[in-house]
Amino acid sequence: MSLADRVAEVRERMAQAATRSGRPASAVQLVAVSKYVDAAIARQLVAAGCLDLGEARPQELWHKAQALADLTVRWHLVGHLQTNKVRRTLPLVELIHSVDSARLLDAINEVAPADRPARVLIEVNTSGDASKHGLPLKEVEPLLVQIDHWPHVRVCGLMTMAAREGGFDIARRNFADLRNLRDTLKPRVPDGVALDELSMGMSDDYEIAIEEGATLVRVGSVLFE
Ligand SMILES: *Cc1c(COP(=O)(O)O)cnc(C)c1O
Repeated sequence: MSLADRVAEVRERMAQAATRSGRPASAVQLVAVSKYVDAAIARQLVAAGCLDLGEARPQELWHKAQALADLTVRWHLVGHLQTNKVRRTLPLVELIHSVDSARLLDAINEVAPADRPARVLIEVNTSGDASKHGLPLKEVEPLLVQIDHWPHVRVCGLMTMAAREGGFDIARRNFADLRNLRDTLKPRVPDGVALDELSMGMSDDYEIAIEEGATLVRVGSVLFE
């Protein structure tokens, strides 16, 4: 199967999962994670219609954004962002999926221009897996109620990664926990916070994530196998 065929298959499965969740296919966006491939293959992804590309490491994102500067790509940082890399990353990205501290919000707020607020998701550790980044569920609301401290940041939603162990039932529970947190917080957070986006689901579990309400799925390896 060609890369374009694999992209088409993922899109088809996404559409079917969206239907099962009572939503149109257009309600869920594919972020093709290009971290496993070089810029030439990433270019083929764009040719196959993937205009949203994700990278886990800021340096790799800088590199590919430069290599593909002639294309219209919306870059997503899906992995951890260190405060010292904010300045170089921010102008390149459409959305940062992985904000999990007030300190990082401080750094982003300082760099983001007032007329182009940085769009971010808050990463939540729904699995309790100590090796994962993300705020514990209980710490999300205390952070969001302080959002006025960061006027140059727009929180657009939440992101999570499912537990590595435990299979699909646990993954589904992790995704449902993120959706339930969003539903609980939505009426309680300040006006400047929109919680419309739920970034959840990767190659192994994106269909489950969509059934549980994902609006963004971050799919990598299954596109390249
Ligand atoms: C690598 C990565 C993905 C994509 O994972 P696959 O299982 O290869 O689809 C998604 N999200 C994050 C944060 C990643 O680091």
